[in-house]
Parts: sequence; C-alpha cells; structure tokens
Amino acid sequence: MAILTFYTLFTLAAGALATLLPDTHLHRRDGNEPYPFCTTATNPSCVNSGRYVKPDLNISDAGSPGDNAYVTLLPSHTFTTSLWTNQKMPPMCYSVINHYGFRPVDFQVYNVTYSDCPTSPWVICRSINASPTLSQIATNLSKMPASMRQAANAYLVFSESWDRAIESWWEDGLIAGKGSFYGPGALVHEHGHAVDGYLLFPSIPGVYSGTSAWLNVVSQDGYSPTAYGTTSHAENFADIGRVVLIENIYPGGINAMFPNHPNLTRIANQVAHFQSVAGAYYQAGTTCDLSKKHPFPSGLVDVPTTTPTPTNTATATPYGQCGGATTYTGPTACGPGWSCTTLNPWYAQCTPAP
Ligand SMILES: [Zn+2]
Repeated sequence: MAILTFYTLFTLAAGALATLLPDTHLHRRDGNEPYPFCTTATNPSCVNSGRYVKPDLNISDAGSPGDNAYVTLLPSHTFTTSLWTNQKMPPMCYSVINHYGFRPVDFQVYNVTYSDCPTSPWVICRSINASPTLSQIATNLSKMPASMRQAANAYLVFSESWDRAIESWWEDGLIAGKGSFYGPGALVHEHGHAVDGYLLFPSIPGVYSGTSAWLNVVSQDGYSPTAYGTTSHAENFADIGRVVLIENIYPGGINAMFPNHPNLTRIANQVAHFQSVAGAYYQAGTTCDLSKKHPFPSGLVDVPTTTPTPTNTATATPYGQCGGATTYTGPTACGPGWSCTTLNPWYAQCTPAP
C-alpha cells in the first residue's frame, strides 16, 4: 500500500462510495459530498478542458516532497494504553462496526493516554485483524498535535478486508479507517475534517467549510492545493490544513518546501484565512485544551461476550471448490496434501500439493 499515493487511495474511496446507498446517520467527509469544489458558474477559471485546474503542490504524494518531508517534523509522544475489559464499547465504534457488517466482538477497545494530554485519554477500537499493532497506531496518532487530535475522541481501525478506504466523520468525534491508512499524512487530512466539523463548528450538524466565510475565500482563490481537494469544499479544507501545517512547522514554510512554485499564490487567501481561524491548532508540540477536547457521547454499548470463531473452518474435498467470487461462502481450506489453486477469479480448486 505504501507505493500508492494518498490521492489514489482517496480516489478509490470515492469510487467505492459511489456504488453504495446514501447513509442516513453518518456524515461522510470523504468522497460523497454533494457539491463540487468549484464550477464554471462560480469561477470560470477553475475548469479547463473539463478538468479542474489546481496547483500541483504534490503534498498528497506519499513519496516526495510533501507528506514525508513534514510529518517527520511532527514529534511523537509517549503514551500508555489500557484494554477495556468491561465488555463495553463506545457507541460510535459499535454502530459503525455493525453498519459495515463486522462483529464488535472482533474489536478490542483501548484507552490511550498521551503525555501531551495526561488527564484525558482517547479511545482506539482496533480490529484484532488490523495490520498495524496498537503501538504503531498509537504512535502515529501521537504525532498529531494535541490541538488537532483533540478534535476527535475515538479512532476505529478496521482490518484490510474492509471494503472502504478511509472515512471520517465529525459526528461523535470518530475517525475510522483501515489499519494501513493510519499513517501520519492521512491522519493530518482526517483530523482536518474533525477540526472543520467540531473545533470550528461545534454545533451539529455543520462544518466550517460550508460557511459563507470560507466559501468566500475559496471563491477569491478558486483553486485547491490538491486534485483530491477539488472533489469538495470539505476535502479542500482538509488539504488546505495540510498546507497550513507545512507552513507552520516546516523550516521556511510552504515557500521553502516549494520554492518558486507558480501556484502558491492561487491558494493564498485560503491559507491566510485558515491560518486565522485554525492556525493555532496546526502547530507542533501543543498540548490539549480540555475545554475544547471533543467529549465522549454518554452511554456505552454492551458487546456480546461470544468468543470470536473462524467463520469458515470446513475443508474442501479433493478437487472440490475452495474459493471463488466474492459471493462464494463454501470452504476455503483443503485437506492435508492438497492446496487451493485459483483457476480464475470465480473458481479455485483443491489440487495435489506440489
Ligand atoms: Zn477527506
């Protein structure tokens, strides 16, 4: 996954979402916002030959020079973790896990207390099948400045078998994603949604990126720092946040990262406005502000205590089917001396082991 750019990953998320029905209780911030970043009606210069014109700052590129160049400047913080043993789960984790067809019992819930916010923990609901360890997830989250991290209260980490890329909501303060998406660059983007939906707009529902104040500065510029940002005002806002973080922590700021970049001025109004309303949150080495930290919704959900069991323990017969299309629900293992050989995308068969 590391060889893919975040832009590609987010695009995959948008594509997956397009095939699904609208969700009535979750407010996705990735991929399905109803309005585009700009249109020829609002800004004739923003579309050229059917494509959005945007500065290519390349900050979404997981290689160089963008994310890696600045996220390494975010210090990690020490933390302690404690596993919940009360068979309960925060309601936002529970509802999303159920919503996507996973079993809450396959997730473990932890309090994670960071040294930059020692009296108020965050919660991580981690799939027992997630690719990164709890420590790896918590370490990456520790690099989010506490002033940004406080916009969220919980993180939901799915296994790679989740059919979504990464999603974030302001509702209930939850950020969710596959384990492989819990890298610092993507997390900065996702926390941008949380800042947008909570720190700058605490009353639900609503996001700052939907206010006339923000839309005005967008129209003054007419450009987004990333291609992904052109998909909606919310995505643009989150990626302007990444620019602002670079501006604030990278030596010499955004101009030093992209010297003589011809397009930096095209996002200048947005960067300046973002800086004025949220720049204080986008600083390294901050501590949390308990008066602003996202509170937990009241009430915990009981998780059934059923021990997780493999869903498919049957063994296919010699030369029998052991795999197939996504609708295949039969056995996927073969007996001793036999191995499962994929013949085509729709059929796999037990054949003598080589
Ligand atoms: Zn997003």
